[in-house]
Amino acid sequence: MAEDGERKEGFSAPEIRRDPLSGAWSILATGRSRRPGAVPGASREPACPFCPGNESMTPPEVWSAGRKGSAPDTPGWEIRVVPNLYPALVPEAGERGWRKSSRVGIPAQGDHEVIVHSPEHGLSLGAMDARRAAGLLGAWQARYRHFAAMARVRYVQVIVNHKREAGASLEHPHAQVFALPVVPRAVLDELRESRRRAGNCPLCAEAEEAREDDRVVAENRAWRAFVPYAARAPFELRFAPLRHAGDFAAAGREELAGLADVLTRSLGALSKLLGDPAYNLWVHAAPCDGKDYQHYHWHLEMIPRIVISAGFELATGMYLNIMEPREAARQLRVSAG
Ligand SMILES: [Zn+2]
Ligand SMILES: [Zn+2]
Ligand SMILES: [Zn+2]
Repeated sequence: MAEDGERKEGFSAPEIRRDPLSGAWSILATGRSRRPGAVPGASREPACPFCPGNESMTPPEVWSAGRKGSAPDTPGWEIRVVPNLYPALVPEAGERGWRKSSRVGIPAQGDHEVIVHSPEHGLSLGAMDARRAAGLLGAWQARYRHFAAMARVRYVQVIVNHKREAGASLEHPHAQVFALPVVPRAVLDELRESRRRAGNCPLCAEAEEAREDDRVVAENRAWRAFVPYAARAPFELRFAPLRHAGDFAAAGREELAGLADVLTRSLGALSKLLGDPAYNLWVHAAPCDGKDYQHYHWHLEMIPRIVISAGFELATGMYLNIMEPREAARQLRVSAG
């Protein structure tokens, strides 16, 4: 492929470039600058493309749940999955990478989807009842499985950006799924730690210690939500399945129901305590590149965007947290009632 990617509608195909100084990957996806609200001052779309009745505003749906006989791309769905209109990764990006002195990159070949959480414009994950949230997690898992099974996909990242301050350009609650041809650095760091302590899983230990330290916010038979010992920000939460397992794709119905329970309770408590703050939520699971990751323990993480990280965090990769994790957990427990 050409050095600068294929031209499409005046934009280059997205690329994944490796920083020669740090080894970290960045995705260059210039087409995303066209999405509503991506550039400060740009006008926002008048109608919500994720609300029922506006299905024609999105690319054709690839998956849905809840339809009782209604046709695709019409109302009647409970959960709807569409390709991202402004994808960071595309299936046809090309196959071959390049290396030209220190300029190393690969085509951003993959997929980028949006999972619309419900037909209701104002119904956030923390306000859903647990049963409905469990169905939604089932949809996340269905798309996760779909991509994880592809040979060219090394990692599937599921994220939720809640509200604009957390990066959401559309406020209608939704998740994004990224099928990546590389394993991201944040996951590599966690894999290294769990491999180093194989047989003594750091997340199994942390979930246990969270209880000893009074940092648990919500729990049930299958899951525990807690404020991490080295929390990066006030009210950061980690969600760990109590059964050690690395693979999100293999989680059973009961496990997803347990996750929906702690997730909705914790996010509900956060919303009540802080007046529905913006947050980022993501899944971390073992890569799907066919290697052995039995040492790894999948989980979810959530960081509220109430403190703006700044120069020190960028300079060092270290976070400055101004709140004692145990106190954050106490306040969330009180809020949860
Ligand atoms: Zn909407
Ligand atoms: Zn574990
Ligand atoms: Zn993680």
